[in-house]
Amino acid sequence: MVQLSKENLLYVSDKPDIVMQSGKGMILKDHHGKSYLDFIGGWAVNVLGHSPKCMIRALKKQAKKLINASPSFYNKPMLEFADLLMKNSCFDRCFFMSTGAEANEGAIKLARKFGQVKKNGAYKIITTIGGFHGRTLATMSATGKQIWKDLFEPKVPGFVHVPLNNIEAMNSSIDEKTCAVMLETIQGEGGVNEATFEYIKQLRQLCNKTNTLLIFDEIQTGFGRTGTLFAYEHYDVEPDIITLGKGIGGGYPLSAMLLKEELNIFKPGEQGGTYTGQPLGMAVGLAILKEILKKDVLTHVNQMSVFVIESLKEMQKKYPIENIRGKGMLLAFDLKEGNAYQITKKCLEKGLIINAISDKTIRLIPPLIVKKKHILEMIAILKLFL
Ligand SMILES: *Cc1c(COP(=O)(O)O)cnc(C)c1O
Repeated sequence: MVQLSKENLLYVSDKPDIVMQSGKGMILKDHHGKSYLDFIGGWAVNVLGHSPKCMIRALKKQAKKLINASPSFYNKPMLEFADLLMKNSCFDRCFFMSTGAEANEGAIKLARKFGQVKKNGAYKIITTIGGFHGRTLATMSATGKQIWKDLFEPKVPGFVHVPLNNIEAMNSSIDEKTCAVMLETIQGEGGVNEATFEYIKQLRQLCNKTNTLLIFDEIQTGFGRTGTLFAYEHYDVEPDIITLGKGIGGGYPLSAMLLKEELNIFKPGEQGGTYTGQPLGMAVGLAILKEILKKDVLTHVNQMSVFVIESLKEMQKKYPIENIRGKGMLLAFDLKEGNAYQITKKCLEKGLIINAISDKTIRLIPPLIVKKKHILEMIAILKLFL
């Protein structure tokens, strides 16, 4: 390989000296030809693994036909994808974008629009401590991570952060100026912390009572990740808005906001974007959704989830791990000794990619097509370093 320099790139984080060259299924290969078993799947993105056939086919076919026609026009994959999404969810309309943060920006704007039109100018949005909503200025403000507190000040005002699973805190924070509550039903980046069934039920009731929108950020939990197509299905409630990202494009930059008919309230020009409904992305999203619905990927996810959890519980008898948690293929466990960064580094050298969310917690977010043999291999490598 030609010697290329990394000095041309803006420094934003430490990365290992690995240049990824190709990927297939659960495996990534670097420039030396070394293989890696991928248990982060592009950061909970590559739901069908690396370069799945259906995605290649959709991209090729659509690229030959139409790549971009401007947001001024409808296109066929856009209409088809929207139709299939609505048929398989509790929502009535959707809007497409490119990244998760952008989808959340859209939801924040829509919530404030709702506040303007239907709640006397209410604008405040309540989010949860430990939740993650993105890296634009507004979504960073919504996130309210402690370590971002003083970053890029001044933040976008109007966000209030309360502890997850504490309905009293929510109750005392919602007032006549509150237009929405926004949260992840499982905090992904925050440590795989699950909202309880009771909490979500009570939250829905509270929002109904106070004319407040309930927004679920399903960017990480959506598209089959938790074993149902959408995470809200676990809770026997219907949110007013959900945002989707990551898995919806399977690696192609794509996101969406799904909403109820009552929220179809934007006036012309208030929401838009150059790449909204871009045909390539639409064709990919449609192909992935069809695959998830058709091939019973969800049954597989649930079976493999049980297998990972049981394997980890077995491991727990001899190794210092605890708090095994999560749903579907959004799983995590804690290390009693808090050496997750060191362990993930050693695993990488051995050809296993896992994610340390903190020095205490390891997260497993593999493609949904992960098989038993991959899980056994992952467990075997992990054991070497625990
Ligand atoms: C990844 C993520 C985002 C941000 O998505 P980007 O595509 O990085 O902008 C927002 N919310 C949640 C829950 C996420 O996991």
